[in-house]
Amino acid sequence: MKLSYKLKVYANKGKIGVLETLARFWQKKVNYYINFYWKAPDWELKLNKPPKEFRGSGSKLENLASVKAWQTVKSIRNKKRGQKDKPVFRKDEFELDETLFTFENFTTKEFDFWIKSYSGKRGGRIAIPFKKHRRLNYWLNKGARLQKTVKFKKVNNNWYAIVYLQPKKVKTKQNVPVVGIDIDYTNGAVDSAGNIWFDKEWVALRKRTKWREYKNGNNPLKQAFNRLAKTLVNTYRCHFALEKLNFKGKKGRSKKFRRDYKNLPYGYLARRLETLAHLEGFQVVRVNPAGTSQTCPVCGFKSRENRNGDYFKCKDCGFKNQADVVGATNIALRASLRYRFQPVVAQAVAEEWGRQGIQPPLEYFAVCTPPQSRPPADFRRCDPLCHTYLTTCG
Ligand SMILES: [Zn+2]
Repeated sequence: MKLSYKLKVYANKGKIGVLETLARFWQKKVNYYINFYWKAPDWELKLNKPPKEFRGSGSKLENLASVKAWQTVKSIRNKKRGQKDKPVFRKDEFELDETLFTFENFTTKEFDFWIKSYSGKRGGRIAIPFKKHRRLNYWLNKGARLQKTVKFKKVNNNWYAIVYLQPKKVKTKQNVPVVGIDIDYTNGAVDSAGNIWFDKEWVALRKRTKWREYKNGNNPLKQAFNRLAKTLVNTYRCHFALEKLNFKGKKGRSKKFRRDYKNLPYGYLARRLETLAHLEGFQVVRVNPAGTSQTCPVCGFKSRENRNGDYFKCKDCGFKNQADVVGATNIALRASLRYRFQPVVAQAVAEEWGRQGIQPPLEYFAVCTPPQSRPPADFRRCDPLCHTYLTTCG
């Protein structure tokens, strides 16, 4: 997995001028080569790079532009078969590889990171100053490596350099329980320990920002999802189980539904959680969601009548709980059976098992008291190998 970070370019007019010139050159050349490669037959486009004799013979930058053009043509041929119009490259950006720039860690009063970049002349270099930001430093300290490629890009009249990081490989953690998470766009995210995350804020935020447009994907809802994913990973420090995404489309839904959920980034939270968990060595597994909110997690009785809106009551054993918590618990139970993880379940579920004298269909349990709004600070002290599901941990 690759991380990318955008760093602001702090340079004087002269240097910005150089970047502008390079971007114009890049744009011209990419379009020139797209024109050229557009006629290439499909079998030839299977290659990763254009054949040597068709690559730019001029400067190294032209060579890279030709590779970019090749990839553009290739991706369009692969994705949109039958597109007749030739693509046109209009972005203000260009990419450099290791032969055309170097990173310099050199600290002055204001700047602590420099890129010595190609200046457009043979052998010429310009030094462009940057400031490392918190997240970049965080990953560098964790042993991530900077990739040997950089992209300069103009966004809203400001120049940025996009750098790529390869995080250090983390071993998957062993002996960690699994928390089931039910992502629901009316209740937010609900987990199998009984926490409902973010419900009110989520709805309010969505209402407030429903009609706004955001550039560069800086949607406040996405930012809120980012925060939530981070909180979940930091709170539980364990594996996560999610539903396999089979819904998440708006087709065939009522007009009200489509209007209310107009600009929700479907699947974004799940993807974000996956990324962040992997970086820490936790697994994210997906289970079949069929019937998760209609099945009783205590006795296993499945019926559509068990659920009434947000309220779940088992028609067989009488177990009561919030419907999404039941869904999340079932997700955790399915994941634990399939992957041999211990499920984290709410106290209420474990107590019900005890009361009914039911031997749960699993080997291990980690039972935690469901906190009211935020999980308690001592949640992490819960022994992940806690077998006695009737004792309260923490
Ligand atoms: Zn039941």
